Amino acid sequence: MEEDCHKLKRVYMSGADKRMALQRVNRGRPSGSTNIVPEVEILNEAAILTENWCLFELGSCLGQPISTLRWLAQRKLIKNNFFCNPCNRHFTLNAYKRTVDGYCWYCKECKRRRSVRDGSFFTRSKLSFKQIILFIYCWSRDMQLKDIQHEARLSSINHTLVDWGNFCRDVCEVEIETNPNVVGGINNDGTAIVVEIDESKFFHRKYHRGQWRPGHWVFGGIERGSGKCFLVEVPDRTAETLQDMILRYILPGTHIVSDGWASYGGIENIQNGIYSHAVVVHERNFVDPLDDEVHTQNVENLWMRVKRKLRRQFGTSEDLFTSYLHEFIWRQRFKNFPLFSAFISCISRQYPA
Ligand SMILES: [Zn+2]
Repeated sequence: MEEDCHKLKRVYMSGADKRMALQRVNRGRPSGSTNIVPEVEILNEAAILTENWCLFELGSCLGQPISTLRWLAQRKLIKNNFFCNPCNRHFTLNAYKRTVDGYCWYCKECKRRRSVRDGSFFTRSKLSFKQIILFIYCWSRDMQLKDIQHEARLSSINHTLVDWGNFCRDVCEVEIETNPNVVGGINNDGTAIVVEIDESKFFHRKYHRGQWRPGHWVFGGIERGSGKCFLVEVPDRTAETLQDMILRYILPGTHIVSDGWASYGGIENIQNGIYSHAVVVHERNFVDPLDDEVHTQNVENLWMRVKRKLRRQFGTSEDLFTSYLHEFIWRQRFKNFPLFSAFISCISRQYPA
């Protein structure tokens, strides 16, 4: 049976098929073409989000400079073609050994060269595409820095690891700021969605060597059931500040549950009553023995998770607090997707190729 298959293959590899196979080989060296991949191979956001990569499969796509460029162009992470306006013609993709990418865009008319990274997320680095993609993969999988360093073959001496962590969190920040998480509203059956809110102070302790940190106030809310949440750093916890945030992050019709903090008094009067409001009365036990619906256990739980995660990462620079908070929110938002694919889709939206 196996032998038959081989025979069959031999037969099929004759004639036209040989020529096709040859063409396929030639497609591996597309010097002189104006597109990296045919337009039909370019994936839309929904398709990118459904991809579920593992390190091994990813690595095999990034084995050669040209396969790497194809992978990137298919996901709109780099330009698929490049137009030379003065010459009114397309650049062609040429092999170019002097760059780490192995290729560059070249205009036959004016003889100018352009980097294949032009205008992309990757312009800020001299690392190879493969290293950056592997970094992003490992970062999005929440690996420890020493493991990321190993997988992406990064040297330990330079600041590259730290820089790329910051670049990734920048992407999270832009994503969160351009599309803030909005929670609450009304269920399909007409009942109010319940949102628990609370504010919490982060890291206002004395750290090693008696260094005092004033800490950060964070205001947050979480939807019961879905677990959809928002978190935002606030300058203070006055009624004015917190009610501003409630209006920004919580939809009208929501039933809000909070503790008895004075600033939450009057939530039911915001804009003539667009929200209903319940207050947790017993500070001692989170669950009111008379009404088990009035509690803030979900938001307490959220604080625990954020603090655990941030404590592990945070501690080097006070300035990075907001950045780490954004990363946490971003991971929450995309928790139902493969995070690497989610991150790739965010980059391709923020750096239109
Ligand atoms: Zn030109």
